[in-house]
Amino acid sequence: MMRLIILGAPGSGKGSQCKWITKDYDVPHISTGDILRKNIADGTELGMKAKEYMDKGELVPDELVIDILKARLDEEDCQEKGFLLDGFPRTVAQAEALDSYLQERDMEIDKVINLDVPDEEIMSRAINRRTCENPNCKEIYNLRDNPPRVEGICDKCGSKLFQRPDDNEETVTNRLNVYHKQTEPLIEYYSKTGKVSTVVGQELLEDTIALVKGVLENL
Ligand code: ADP
Ligand code: ZN
Repeated sequence: MMRLIILGAPGSGKGSQCKWITKDYDVPHISTGDILRKNIADGTELGMKAKEYMDKGELVPDELVIDILKARLDEEDCQEKGFLLDGFPRTVAQAEALDSYLQERDMEIDKVINLDVPDEEIMSRAINRRTCENPNCKEIYNLRDNPPRVEGICDKCGSKLFQRPDDNEETVTNRLNVYHKQTEPLIEYYSKTGKVSTVVGQELLEDTIALVKGVLENL
């Protein structure tokens, strides 16, 4: 049982860290971005509302995201095994909502991992990022450092790769600005709990994984 939050700018590589953490520690990976994208794909009312904001790189309004997050945390797997929150909280209001949810249930966050990567590196990675469209795979590639063996095809499952519509230069710049303004204050917010560990994102994924492992092994 572990309750983790991973903070980091959009494109800092949170998703890649989440993939191994969720496997090694058998903890549910909760990505609000994934939940929202699923709603868009399914054409739900929530998805239609969220899409406008997401395409511009803006945050989806707190009320919408807080409700879907709480509903997800109420599910049995999170109650039993804890959770790894990826992309939530993104504002102080979301962090406060999460705090009251946890307090009401006598639960606590064990660790906040702050993944620190320079903006220039994030931009370069984002425009080169491709994702497997298979929802059970979601493997992430990078045309610069980690290209697939066959162009446009996932090495693992053979499904098609796609570029997220929000991975263009203008949207990424906007997302980074939003991050610095609205989400970065959460580092300070959680620092007061003494539970933040900052990990500097390394060029090689394995090196970053080793650093995060070091943090989690000491819990
Ligand atoms: P990344 O993987 O690049 O960090 P995400 O997949 O987490 O991006 O999120 C994509 C978009 O979904 C965000 O730009 C934002 O519009 C919306 N979103 C995701 N999570 C939240 C949240 N907690 N609060 C508000 N908007 C969110
Ligand atoms: Zn795949």
